[in-house]
Amino acid sequence: MTKYIFVTGGVTSSLGKGIIAASVAKLLQSRGFSVTIQKFDPYINVDPGTLNPYEHGECYVTDDGAETDLDLGHYERFLNVPTSQANNVTTGRIYLTVITKEREGAYLGKTVQVIPHITDEIKRRMLLLGQTGQFDIVITEIGGTVGDIESLPYIEAIRQLRWELGNENCLVVHLTLLPFLAAAKELKTKPTQHSVKELLMSGIQPDILVCRTEHAITADIRRKVALFCNLDSSSVIEALDAESIYDVPLMMLKEKLDLVILSKLRLVDRSEPKLTAWKNFLGKLKNPTQVVHIAVIGKYVELQDAYKSISESFIHAGAVNECRVKVSMIHSEHITSYNVAEKLKGMNGILVAPGFGERGIEGKIVAVRYARENNLPFFGICLGMQCAVIEFGRTVLGLSDAHSTEMMLKTTSPVIDLMEEQKQVTQKGGTMRLGAYDCAIKKDSKAYNCYHKTGISERHRHRYEFNNAYLTQYETAGMLATGTNPDSGLVEIVEIPSHRWFVGVQFHPELKSTVENPHPLFVGFVKACIGDK
Ligand code: GLN
Repeated sequence: MTKYIFVTGGVTSSLGKGIIAASVAKLLQSRGFSVTIQKFDPYINVDPGTLNPYEHGECYVTDDGAETDLDLGHYERFLNVPTSQANNVTTGRIYLTVITKEREGAYLGKTVQVIPHITDEIKRRMLLLGQTGQFDIVITEIGGTVGDIESLPYIEAIRQLRWELGNENCLVVHLTLLPFLAAAKELKTKPTQHSVKELLMSGIQPDILVCRTEHAITADIRRKVALFCNLDSSSVIEALDAESIYDVPLMMLKEKLDLVILSKLRLVDRSEPKLTAWKNFLGKLKNPTQVVHIAVIGKYVELQDAYKSISESFIHAGAVNECRVKVSMIHSEHITSYNVAEKLKGMNGILVAPGFGERGIEGKIVAVRYARENNLPFFGICLGMQCAVIEFGRTVLGLSDAHSTEMMLKTTSPVIDLMEEQKQVTQKGGTMRLGAYDCAIKKDSKAYNCYHKTGISERHRHRYEFNNAYLTQYETAGMLATGTNPDSGLVEIVEIPSHRWFVGVQFHPELKSTVENPHPLFVGFVKACIGDK
């Protein structure tokens, strides 16, 4: 029978529930259990696809084309197992299902209510992955903070499931904060007590408390938290601030969080945790032999979560190369042809980030030109690749108003144009070219040197594409399509072979980089940047 672990959060947001959930999953996986993690988000958007990155950070895309919360990225990076649409559910999706059923008459004249209809739909979805028979343990992270009005139906659903499944099959891990008051030089437990009280008022006694803290917790504090929250001391887990998110599984191992969970779920320990690959990665991450400086050019740079997967991919690729990658986020709106040399001074390579819309586009194009003309390693992702095509069109082919029709509908040189299948699309949510598509790589290319194979599959999220009407012109002038979709001919990768390392990709390699499988293109790009030094 599948066991269920629910992870809730109290006191404040941003305590790192996603990392704790992923760390617990990693430890259980390392002991031989098959584990998956799902995220339930209390907002009313049907999925995060229509959200501006300033709201909740990047939108993470799965192989099956779901636009999801960025925590799914952590789950995949930690577990090295793909997630899917079923791993991310929002209140919007729950209501959409219930309201659609109501319109179909499925409720047979009943009044449709939050309890039981919304909570039943939440419970159905909470159990869905477990019912596939693929997983020993399903971890469900509940977004938001306990006490928020919008998370109430989720908490009620957990309460009911616990009753239905029994305590030994269903566990609640509550993540909370022990703030340190500098003036009193003390860690304070009251906010934690209050947040547990909040859960108790909803009928849930948490089984384990994970306490985020800036200072180690003493035995006294542990006992105090345990006493006031009805727990034994071993169920109060210290989660000190970590240097890297990748330290957290080992910190939780030291706290024996995995063993406490196994015993509460009456699971027999299958084996000692096998974490060799993880520890090797950490060893390399902590002992770099050199440093490279890479500029990431984007327009959401104020918010570090907006480019989460790219930053993490650099951490993975850096570790493989035993190199510390220092990423400088540079705002594309601040780059002009006058200051570009100054802005990119000291950089060993540049990555132009994905994005949508006009804002900041010219700065990105200027940055591409600088990299191309100065033989500086260049990596363009999605919009970044499209900018490379636009720049080449303008400067090398002399198509002075070369552009994407996304930014300039009336350009006479639409080198990037709306995909044919997108022309009829009017709805915004979930309608881009999303998810995994195949790409055939030409043997004599930088991409092939990275992947060492000709057939790959990568994830996508775009509406525009390289306009194949210009392909011959580009290839004659030295920008080659080295990767294409075998079915549609859509250009997936462009390269300039005469350049040291100039690669643009229409897909999102950053979504498939994991600790145990760093993405080949990021690894190759970092290597090229090291070469630049
Ligand atoms: N805006 C571009 C498109 O839709 C690029 C999208 C992206 O960078 N994810 O094609």
